[in-house]
Amino acid sequence: MILDTFIAKVDPENPTLNKDIIAKAADIIKNGGLVAFPTETVYGLGGNALDGEAAKKIYAAKGRPSDNPLIVHISHIDELYPLVEEVSPKAKALMDAFWPGPLTLIFKKKPIIPSETSGGLDTVAIRFPENKVAKEFISACGVPIAAPSANTSGKPSPTRASHVAYDMTGRIDMIIDGGSCEFGLESTIVDTTCEPPCLLRPGAVTLGMMKELIGDMTVDKAVVSALKEGEKPKAPGMKYTHYSPKAHITIVKGSLDMVEKYIIEQADKGKAEGCNVGIIATVQTKDSYSGHNVLIIGDRDHPETIAANLFKMLRKCDYLGFERVYVEYFDEDELGMAIMNRLKKAAGYDIVVL
Ligand code: AMP
Ligand code: MG
Repeated sequence: MILDTFIAKVDPENPTLNKDIIAKAADIIKNGGLVAFPTETVYGLGGNALDGEAAKKIYAAKGRPSDNPLIVHISHIDELYPLVEEVSPKAKALMDAFWPGPLTLIFKKKPIIPSETSGGLDTVAIRFPENKVAKEFISACGVPIAAPSANTSGKPSPTRASHVAYDMTGRIDMIIDGGSCEFGLESTIVDTTCEPPCLLRPGAVTLGMMKELIGDMTVDKAVVSALKEGEKPKAPGMKYTHYSPKAHITIVKGSLDMVEKYIIEQADKGKAEGCNVGIIATVQTKDSYSGHNVLIIGDRDHPETIAANLFKMLRKCDYLGFERVYVEYFDEDELGMAIMNRLKKAAGYDIVVL
């Protein structure tokens, strides 16, 4: 069935000014429907986390495999305890430091979480977002909200309402437009059911920030490298192709001088072959590529700008019809780990090392 998707703007700084819109969205959730909403990471596609049928609708709207569990969002710390069996002291320390915020924690689940929401696992992923609109919306619903990113499965995550509308119009009941997402990359995911806790997906809460607080942590292999045939990531979602625009993306690694020279050569060659080539550059390098299709992703001295723009740039590659795209490499420390994790997946691990 094609739904009549309703899009409504809410003031990101003061969502209580739009109480009627929030109430309408909450009614949809209470009636088993789906609402996309902004968070500080990316837009989420929300449904009642305690209703297996709503979870099934989320999988259908995204075209997402149902073994890929959903993150459950809460609007107050007290809402956590009815959902999970145990909160370890290290989990508690992470919650105290980073909640509300861009950190998802995995716990052993209580039976109240239906297996559709947890993708058949006996654990559940929980996040307490900081975004004001998200908090207002979840709180008005009165139930925890299961919400994966609000994109079609495999596509870059949406960081503004127009991205959600492009992917989800006709497939969901409502989109709350609360402007651009602050961080632009999905939440950090940490499994707290093991000792030491394990990083399953890097994000704006970095490994360094967490280790400083709780000491040793392990890092799931899927975070930094491509998995081999038969290897399984601990976050089921990490095995799927992700963030892929239609263009073939190549990451180019080396000294910036050599990277620029290589990209110019390849872009000239592609152009001569009649190919629509795009270059994803930074404010530091953009002028080197004059005469080519350059997208500026951000400032190398401020990695948070690169994170915030990454998915928007990958979507632009599609909107502009690029067939081949060259991206400069970024250092993989701190926030760079999350940036490169998404970029490598978008590129299918095609990296030229000079
Ligand atoms: P998304 O909501 O699109 O950001 O995707 C949610 C991510 O969380 C996916 O990679 C899931 O595989 C992962 N995830 C959700 N629940 C669990 C869980 N119980 N254990 C491990 N990973 C999970
Ligand atoms: Mg996603």
